[in-house]
Amino acid sequence: MEMEKLVSLCRRRGFLFQSSEIYGGLNGFWDYGPLGVELKRNIKNAWWQDMVTSHDDLAVLPGAPGSYEMTGLDCAIVMHPQVWKVSGHYDLFHDMMVDCRQKKERYRFDQLRGRWVAAKGQRLLITTLSEENEEAEIERAALKYFKLRAKETAQLEWDGDIVTLDTIAISDLDKVLAPGASEPGTLTEPREFNLMFETYCGAIRDEKSKAFLRPETAQGIFVNFKNVLDSSRVKVPFGIAQIGKSFRNEITPRHFTFRSREFEQMEIEFFCHPDTSRQWYEYWRDRRMQWYMDLGLASGRLRLRDHTPEELSHYSTGTADVEYAFPFMAKGVYGELEGIAHRGDFDLRSHSEGKLDPATRPLTVELGSDGQPIHRGSGKDMTYRDETTGQRYLPHVIEPSAGADRAALAFLCEAYTEDEAPDDQGKMQKRTVLKFHPRLAPIKAAVFPLVKKDGMPEIAREIYRALKRHVTAFYDEKGAVGRRYRRQDEAGTPYCVTVDGQTLADKTVTIRDRDSLQQWRVKIDDVAEQIVEKVNR
Ligand code: ATP
Repeated sequence: MEMEKLVSLCRRRGFLFQSSEIYGGLNGFWDYGPLGVELKRNIKNAWWQDMVTSHDDLAVLPGAPGSYEMTGLDCAIVMHPQVWKVSGHYDLFHDMMVDCRQKKERYRFDQLRGRWVAAKGQRLLITTLSEENEEAEIERAALKYFKLRAKETAQLEWDGDIVTLDTIAISDLDKVLAPGASEPGTLTEPREFNLMFETYCGAIRDEKSKAFLRPETAQGIFVNFKNVLDSSRVKVPFGIAQIGKSFRNEITPRHFTFRSREFEQMEIEFFCHPDTSRQWYEYWRDRRMQWYMDLGLASGRLRLRDHTPEELSHYSTGTADVEYAFPFMAKGVYGELEGIAHRGDFDLRSHSEGKLDPATRPLTVELGSDGQPIHRGSGKDMTYRDETTGQRYLPHVIEPSAGADRAALAFLCEAYTEDEAPDDQGKMQKRTVLKFHPRLAPIKAAVFPLVKKDGMPEIAREIYRALKRHVTAFYDEKGAVGRRYRRQDEAGTPYCVTVDGQTLADKTVTIRDRDSLQQWRVKIDDVAEQIVEKVNR
């Protein structure tokens, strides 16, 4: 699938718009249109429903070491700055960036990709930003730099596969030809760039009033751990879920909504006994992977990848990513949809005791009475007491952390299909269809009168009103019926209900299935029940 086609469909049909488009847009920010908002809401609702509200806390689910409870939270976006000091985000949440002195562009060090080549006695790493045509673009840039013609490509001696910049020696930076640059060595050395957006609370803008937009929703859950325990009757093992906006000042937002500066996360912090935490980790890893497959990411583009020991954070004994091979990424590159991490007791312990190295940068708002920076946690006891055994311990945490926007993008990519369907004359014609899982489809059913006369619109409107009480429905009486079907196919509507001549005689209508194109007759009184049953499957 060509990504431009999906991007253009998203704009044309109202899934996604660039934020502030009439002023030229703002890089890294997106707005969901009328269809997009329904899609994203359906994803979040499916997650909340499957993980929290319909979770059966009395049963032992397949693969789980026992039964467990689930509950939810909705925390503020701006939190006490000390939260981010203790979580490590203030000191450590950065990406390495490089600047191109010639093009005045900034790149993420670990994302810039290129290939070594030698010609005319010089060896260079030629980089490119183009991912869809990576190799061809690199070759084009190499020919241009070495002043060779297309038929002289044999003079280019390629050395190895495409690599990212962070895998080469810093001393080799002067041999890098940056994207679009006319000479090598225009990149600066990599520097740290903190990804947290800053803001100020109150009327005075100084260091003391500085605060941050949360870069993840997880910390709101950790700092409320005791509140949830004390105010509800949950017992370990249990999970707290939260859906909400997060903000990261990404150096290079790109790939449509994949890397945005404002996005929505769906996170669970699952608290369990240290002895069973490994089993719980494996349970969540498999359960979360299965969730995406059940909702339609089943084409083989999805994979579950365990992190290598080198990739793991120092406190994590296991992390796995659910990844999707997005069509806009280079061949063999996968994009993360969700990370499932075994975080041990790192977070609860840090918020209790504080653990950061005192040599790290002080957060000025937290200077002690002696004027020295405070590097401590809240001092609150975060331990849990098991009422049956009397044991007191710090629970371990398993964190399945997903992004609603990346999930929406993956579902859109997977759903996009071009095939053929008969037109009004029965002739097969090309069509574009979004084959969403019915639970995710923005509109579940469209209702059409075949023609705008003979009482058909009146009956169709009645059916539409009855359906609207249960599902998102759409009424359309304009134009040839074949065109109306096509418009719904493009929106991903799984069922179209049509009132025709026969309806007037026997009170039945047709239902058309978006994917199989099959049509069958149903009594008007049974339409709502049948559609509700089908879309909730
Ligand atoms: P990446 O390595 O791609 O930047 P990450 O490992 O930093 O992602 P996490 O911190 O694990 O991501 O965040 C959890 C989830 O939040 C991700 O799996 C992703 O779905 C989502 N997410 C993170 N950053 C962004 C972003 N800039 N835009 C959209 N979604 C994001």
